[in-house]
Amino acid sequence: MPELSLRDRALGAYLGVAVGDALGATVEFMTASEIKAEYGVHRHMTGGGWLRLKPGQVTDDTGMCMALAGAILQSDGWDLRTAADAFVAWMASCPVDIGNTCRRGIRRYMFDGTFGTQPREDQAGNGALMRNLPVVLSTLDDENAFIERSRAQAHITHSHALSDAAILATGRLTRLLLAGGSLGECRHVLDELIAGHPQFRFEPWPGRTSGYVVDTLQTVLHALFRTDSFEALVVEVVNRGGDADTTGAIAGQLGGALYGVAGIPKAWLKQLNPAISSAIRRQTEGLLALSSRSPTPVSSPKASSAAARGALFGSDLGNLPLPTTR
Ligand code: MG
Ligand code: MG
Repeated sequence: MPELSLRDRALGAYLGVAVGDALGATVEFMTASEIKAEYGVHRHMTGGGWLRLKPGQVTDDTGMCMALAGAILQSDGWDLRTAADAFVAWMASCPVDIGNTCRRGIRRYMFDGTFGTQPREDQAGNGALMRNLPVVLSTLDDENAFIERSRAQAHITHSHALSDAAILATGRLTRLLLAGGSLGECRHVLDELIAGHPQFRFEPWPGRTSGYVVDTLQTVLHALFRTDSFEALVVEVVNRGGDADTTGAIAGQLGGALYGVAGIPKAWLKQLNPAISSAIRRQTEGLLALSSRSPTPVSSPKASSAAARGALFGSDLGNLPLPTTR
């Protein structure tokens, strides 16, 4: 694989969210056998689906990412109220869809101004995981800020230890891949995740593709290690059905960080709304600029040196409460 710059990988991750979302949304909530019967293998951005989308149209996964990125840029780093207000504004913009847990959390913030609830068993969906990339891109060399802001944005709608664990592990994988780390190195992050939360064991794949954050991450991780291109990865996960736009978005994030923007099929990029693509490009530049203010920015694939890898491996999954039932 040619050497990729951090910018190639970061833009790949963010555009990867959008193309994974747009491809998967067509088959969201279908089963794998229904997809097979209707499409053979679903690999073209045709739109449609239960939301009757235009080809290339994105959904809440990308929309919430962009809202959070806008808030981070607006606050020139981080302000939780600005992030929560951005979710309110996004919901008020009549998005094409919104998850129930996201809606409940945003409405709670609107009515009482609180930024979250005590951990709740019904908040283990994937809605906070799917939108966390902007936090990752703006905190590349600040592990503490990455952890604190990831949790803070998540808890506005999803206060659950398994959501937190999935978000931090996915963020750490993304950070590692952005720095030029290999899939083999990603195993260390996942060993740590599974040691703390064995529910996330993904080999063998349990075969579930619901919006439960554990099902979502297992599906993405299983495909990540058995494919060797962005296209193969995203096609693999969306054809498993279920919450396919969200598994597509998260696979797109990791695949984009691993394979870079040049790894994303051009036909898919062309189908995205140009306004969305250019906003993503602008936001990526702005988020990386915030990261580069850190004293030791992750600026090139050279960061995959042992020292930089050390900086990217955090240790702090341990403080989470541990509800183990869904
Ligand atoms: Mg969606
Ligand atoms: Mg979805």
